Amino acid sequence: MTTAPKLSFDVQQSHAARTPAERERVLAAPGFGQTFTDHMVSIDYTEGQGWHDGRLTAYGPLTLDPATSVFHYAQELFEGLKAYRQENGSIVAFRPYANASRFNISARRMAMPEVPEETFVEALELLVQTDRDWVPSTEGHSLYLRPFMIATQVGLGVNYPSKSYRFMVIGSPAAAYFAGGVKPVSVWLSQDYTRAAPGGTGFAKCGGNYAAAFVAQRQAVENGCDQVVWLDAFEHRYVEEMGGMNLFFVFGDRLVTPDLTGTLLAGITRDSLLTLAADLGLAAEERKISIDEWREACASGELTEVFACGTAAVITPVGSVKGVEGGWTIGDGAPGPVTLRLRDELMGIQYGTRPDPHGWVHKI
Ligand code: PMP
Repeated sequence: MTTAPKLSFDVQQSHAARTPAERERVLAAPGFGQTFTDHMVSIDYTEGQGWHDGRLTAYGPLTLDPATSVFHYAQELFEGLKAYRQENGSIVAFRPYANASRFNISARRMAMPEVPEETFVEALELLVQTDRDWVPSTEGHSLYLRPFMIATQVGLGVNYPSKSYRFMVIGSPAAAYFAGGVKPVSVWLSQDYTRAAPGGTGFAKCGGNYAAAFVAQRQAVENGCDQVVWLDAFEHRYVEEMGGMNLFFVFGDRLVTPDLTGTLLAGITRDSLLTLAADLGLAAEERKISIDEWREACASGELTEVFACGTAAVITPVGSVKGVEGGWTIGDGAPGPVTLRLRDELMGIQYGTRPDPHGWVHKI
């Protein structure tokens, strides 16, 4: 953990905050990432000075010089986590220190300054405490939190990283990510595009990875599928991840998930499910899995379920697969019992209807 003097925040509550009636209208049908709470947190970084000017202000546009480094060289990274309103009314964030740690792993790869983990979590807490009425109480809904950092140095010099940065946190009430709920998704195996190669930025949550992914996601949709599945950069044979989610393969009571080779994001949901699987007596293996194994094990009936996992959509079953060489279905195409059990366990911890033996929920 990075240690630094504790940063204090200047709190400027918004006078233009929306009325309770306006807020309730948004919370009745929040969608995903469409509407934001009344405030935002910002902290600036200057080389030589470190992090300074922590502040909570009204949510609103930024004014940046057109030559600001982030617009040209994409020195940017972000995180995503959720705050949940639990059954007893308390508000919790799910594993915020895990996001803080991954944020700093991304920061090191992008030659950006690390944000002390305590500061990262305090910034989240300040926003959620101030805008706590924006945390939905509807079942399955949550407040999605988006911490991010941008390079703010003005100038087009490309040889060195920026000397100044801004870290921010914004929040957005969220309904279930996929409108279909636990409806299985269909996936497209991308042969034309690769997300990440060894030595690249696959393990970092930097905006550029997502910009480069849109064209493949569009191709998936053009081929009648919901989501793209990324394969390894060399042989286009081994499964890496699905869009913005990690994948799990269920062989009866044994789980397999692609190992963290540096080309995929180390999902916090993935990590949580590996722990929950052990709690439930399911064996779990982190290893390579090829598309041939996927297809053949589905044909033999050995592979019974596949699901994707991530913060936004929690757990989403995968029902069918399509690629240039044809497609196949998984099981009977419906959500399987292991998928639903793990989903129920994890959401139970997040919403406080089950005990939290691993201390994952962080009260705000
Ligand atoms: N892979 C990618 C590429 C992602 O963007 C995400 C979402 N952060 C995930 C996996 C899942 O990660 P997490 O469980 O931490 O949300």
